Amino acid sequence: MLLVTYRTPGGLALGVRTEGGILDVAAASRRLGRADVPHTVERALAMGLDALDALADLAARAEGEADLFLPEDGLRLGPPVPRPGKILCVGLNYRAHAAEAHMAVPAYPVLFAKFQNAVAGPGDPVVLPGIAEQYDYEAELVVVIGRRARRVPAEAALDYVLGYCNGNDLSARDLQMRTSQWLLGKSLDGFLPIGPYLVTRDEVPDPQDLRIRLWRNGEIRQAGHTRNMLFPVAELIAYISRYMTLEPGDIIATGTPEGVIMGLAEKDWLKPGDVVAVQIDGLGRLENRLVAGE
Ligand code: ZN
Repeated sequence: MLLVTYRTPGGLALGVRTEGGILDVAAASRRLGRADVPHTVERALAMGLDALDALADLAARAEGEADLFLPEDGLRLGPPVPRPGKILCVGLNYRAHAAEAHMAVPAYPVLFAKFQNAVAGPGDPVVLPGIAEQYDYEAELVVVIGRRARRVPAEAALDYVLGYCNGNDLSARDLQMRTSQWLLGKSLDGFLPIGPYLVTRDEVPDPQDLRIRLWRNGEIRQAGHTRNMLFPVAELIAYISRYMTLEPGDIIATGTPEGVIMGLAEKDWLKPGDVVAVQIDGLGRLENRLVAGE
């Protein structure tokens, strides 16, 4: 199943993407008398895996009620996880990326955070403020947690995943490297576009078997594969949940493969007007234009 949010005058609404369009979940559950279905994205993410059967059932029962399905072209999608409780990011999780960054291959996952202010949706313009110069992209597989996870073994860890989406861990390298802590250069407003869909885990049989690609203005810049992660998704969840409890709606950005600007001889940093697109197999295409701003 593909879950989306879309913008309405009343805020972000929850939708299910189907062949026949985007199901308006709130309207459908009202009409079909389904109080058990989460009406909002906040509720659906809090329920996590427990929400999926009810949503799938609603989508099936709504078939034939054409007015409950909205054409995707006419909607402005929002981030599929608008306000993650935690945004955990993994640095240097691909050997070739560690090499291009001139950093050692880590013995343990390198963890850092972004905050909710960084979340942006598909198609949202992202402001490159004048307070930095070295703007870079990072295509990443983003994992959405679907069930409380505390000290889960790697063998069971994928059972705690709600689904996956594309992410772009935008980074201001000059701010990132100013001190030993990367956070400042990682959590500028809008610096984590995610989406367009939250693809539930049943549609992604193996998160380590996905091509991960990024284009800048139509030119391919990253062409990696999730099989090359140093710490695969299951190991990341096991490792993180050993130290902190993961909750439904938390997200993990699992690191970027090689091909970032920082690793190039000619560092042509991102600039206003650029369009950056991330595409991971089966997860759709996440595209954002960068704009000038304060
Ligand atoms: Zn990253």
